[in-house]
Amino acid sequence: MPRLLIIEDEPAMRTALEETLRGLGFRTSSAVNGPAGLEKACTEEPDLILLDVMLPGLDGYALCRELRRRGRGMPVLMLTAKALVDDRVEGLESGADDYLVKPFSMKELAARVRALLRRASNAASGPQTLTLGSIVFDFKTMTAHRGKEPLSVNVREMRILQLLAERRGEPISRETFLDAIWDYNAWPTTRSVDNYIAAIRSKIEPDPEHPRWILTVRGIGYRLAGEVD
Ligand code: CA
Repeated sequence: MPRLLIIEDEPAMRTALEETLRGLGFRTSSAVNGPAGLEKACTEEPDLILLDVMLPGLDGYALCRELRRRGRGMPVLMLTAKALVDDRVEGLESGADDYLVKPFSMKELAARVRALLRRASNAASGPQTLTLGSIVFDFKTMTAHRGKEPLSVNVREMRILQLLAERRGEPISRETFLDAIWDYNAWPTTRSVDNYIAAIRSKIEPDPEHPRWILTVRGIGYRLAGEVD
């Protein structure tokens, strides 16, 4: 049974999360501030973390960044009281996989937790690394390096690369990317996929206008070029 870590300082919210998730059969542990949460995340290595943003000691963004820096790639679902778009972006940039804006329903929470766990278990059976020229992507730690230099790739970009790597050479439709990577987020469109692909290309392609690795498949979506010497 998956183990979840709940990092939330507000007692009523923490209790509600624990009761709901245990009722669904998950095992849970919890932490009430940022430093304790980070410690538990690294020692217990839960299957998924529910992470409040406003926390004493270390906020959720900083915690998530530190978690990724330490090479922990488990899914993180961020719980935020703020509905501002900037916060969502910061959450994803810090390495969270998804976010829920408070107040949310426990039904929605359960659906997102299950979706993230399902995605993580699918991904675990696929390739754990991808090498494109001098760039190596590590999907277990969610990190990327060009030679010895760290390359800044956010978690959603990594999930896109992971899906491309799992199905290397095959065309993948924009809808498939949306289902696999955005499934519960607020109304993404196929343009979101294009925007992310453009961002990834600008980081990894020697000539983003004439991509060598992530190829456009007209009328469908994208595919990762086959093995290239
Ligand atoms: Ca809080």
